[in-house]
Amino acid sequence: MNIIERGRAFLQSLKELSNRSVWDWKKCPRCGSMNTNKWGFYKRYPWFLHGREEMKVQRHKCKACGPTYSETSPLLKRGSSYAREVHRSAVDHWQHGGMSLRRTAEVLRSWLGKQERYLFWRPLAEGPAECERCHLSASTVHRWLDRAGIKAQESVEGQLEGIADTKNAGVDGLWAKLRGGGKRVVLMLTDSVTGLVFPPIIAKGEESAESFRQLFARAEQAGLDLEQLRGVTSDGANGLVSYMKRGLYWVQHQRCVWHLWRNLKKPTAEAAKQAGEGLGKEAAKLKRKEMRKACPELAEGS
Ligand SMILES: [Zn+2]
Repeated sequence: MNIIERGRAFLQSLKELSNRSVWDWKKCPRCGSMNTNKWGFYKRYPWFLHGREEMKVQRHKCKACGPTYSETSPLLKRGSSYAREVHRSAVDHWQHGGMSLRRTAEVLRSWLGKQERYLFWRPLAEGPAECERCHLSASTVHRWLDRAGIKAQESVEGQLEGIADTKNAGVDGLWAKLRGGGKRVVLMLTDSVTGLVFPPIIAKGEESAESFRQLFARAEQAGLDLEQLRGVTSDGANGLVSYMKRGLYWVQHQRCVWHLWRNLKKPTAEAAKQAGEGLGKEAAKLKRKEMRKACPELAEGS
């Protein structure tokens, strides 16, 4: 199973768990016997995103094979005082939100226990009593991330099985001023279909073919199949054009229309200004308008 199918299967397993009927739970998970009895329950107090809840966990006893078993909930994680949604939210804050472990824990504690930062957000709210405070710590979030990472690492094999490679990519550079006055360009390659951004590289400029060779090599390392690639959209960076001629000769190169128009903006404005020179105020205004209207048609014809 590839990574998408695994995700779907996981969601399906949660749905099945939440749809289990009384009869499903009556069946012993070890021996499959229906000869079971309800065997009391115990209480748990897990934290959800909206606060702490009391949950009853039903136990059953199998008369055929002996031991007891408990019903499980798709909302909870076995052995944790925090519901599945809190675990997932923590990983998301850290990974998608780019927060530190300490801040992730702090923000989640604020939501869960309506404490700390929550009281900044809602100044009229009253903080919880000491016994009702949430104590989620950064080290707990760290442990969750470690576990998730180990599990993800174990499942690397086969993750991309059967997943088609993109045939269209977009390339662009983003100039950044560095501390101390230097300038560098961050070169990026994206999958035009999904928007996935491949790992970027940092180069001195967009003139050298070598920088673009490195960019494509890095994308290849990250899983892009260059042989499958059919089209690249970009501005007219010289380095890219010369790299593609030699290194990616089977790929069609399309100039990005947005970049073309942006480059045309200045000359168009200048041409319109020139056309209006020497005319009266109103006449110049009309002439400029006429010129700007004619420019796209001229460009199309060229
Ligand atoms: Zn049994």
